[in-house]
Amino acid sequence: MNNKFVYTPGPTSIRENVLLARAQKTTNPDIDKDFFDFYKNTCEKIGRIINTKNDVYILSGEGILGLEAACASLTEKGDRVLVIDNGIFGKGFSDFITMYGGEVVYFSKDYNKDLDIEDLKKFLEHDNNFKYATVVHCDTPTGVLNNISKICPLLKEYNILTVVDSVAAMVGEELNVDEWQIDIALGGSQKAISAPAGLTIVSISNDAKTYIKNRKTKISGFYCNLSIWQDYYENKSFPYTMPISDIMGLDKAVDNILDEGIENVISRHEKIAFATRNSIKEYGLELFLDKGYSNTVTTIKIPESIGALNLSNYMLKKYNTLVATSLCEYIDKLLRIGHMGENARLENIIYILNILDESLKELGFKSDKNLVKLFNKYYN
Ligand SMILES: *Cc1c(COP(=O)(O)O)cnc(C)c1O
Repeated sequence: MNNKFVYTPGPTSIRENVLLARAQKTTNPDIDKDFFDFYKNTCEKIGRIINTKNDVYILSGEGILGLEAACASLTEKGDRVLVIDNGIFGKGFSDFITMYGGEVVYFSKDYNKDLDIEDLKKFLEHDNNFKYATVVHCDTPTGVLNNISKICPLLKEYNILTVVDSVAAMVGEELNVDEWQIDIALGGSQKAISAPAGLTIVSISNDAKTYIKNRKTKISGFYCNLSIWQDYYENKSFPYTMPISDIMGLDKAVDNILDEGIENVISRHEKIAFATRNSIKEYGLELFLDKGYSNTVTTIKIPESIGALNLSNYMLKKYNTLVATSLCEYIDKLLRIGHMGENARLENIIYILNILDESLKELGFKSDKNLVKLFNKYYN
């Protein structure tokens, strides 16, 4: 099971030093004061990477936990919540909001481009009575990247709290939580951070904390209640036993990013993504998006005569390589190259493009071009 080459838009491949960090001897994270310092230090390092002075927490649970926790903590019965829907994860926020009694208002737009800020401006002029709004930074099933730097400050002009799912963008794309006025920013360990799946990263602003404190009704549930984290350090008390090995692995993955420099990590993603997109187009395939390309994932339309599922099965059988198609109506239409985190490296992308080229041709796709050669032309 574990000898496959994995090239999906998360989970991504994991560096050996991260795996080894997880294998180290551990302490009791509930009562060893040193662990509170270790945890806080990891949170602060993440804060530096995402440019925030807000509190950062690491929660025990995969990225979805953060999405639900944000909605559980902010929603009171009958609250109107704006759901920015130009992708599958974007729309999916509504499930969590209704689950906690909120009333969803969609702002739905095309899935093949990033959100037009002028459209949102016009919409908000007529309707802006929302407690908070949800938006996805990179909506992974289609790969669209939304302009959070414009969207969140606009929402805040109307005193709407902002919740951003940056699970698939964090570390692979620029993310300035404070400057962009993101009240709750969410990340996951298994995407561009390149640690194993299992941890959620949450940053929370003072506005969001005040809002939660002033709720009229109690937050239902415990795991999804973000206020249980407040003062954990001062009180030397976690809400539950922390998954210490996971956090030791995450800490090492964060050090890898800091050692390389976050600007260098982001530009590595940019260069790989740019050359990937251009080589795919020149090769004779179409990208799904018209604009708003994320640098962490490239989404390619696969001709019906081949089929995305057929192609991914072929690549798995013949090359022992795992690639992802997409979700919902796109499941057999789109193939995704997840060049994020440790996968956003030249030696990896060359390999995947080479076997993609071979597989497509073996399945009857006609092109006299070579995908790797094209990639090299655009990569510098
Ligand atoms: C991966 C991801 C999550 C976490 O969801 P899973 O489906 O459990 O992996 C949340 N949001 C986005 C945008 C993601 O890419």
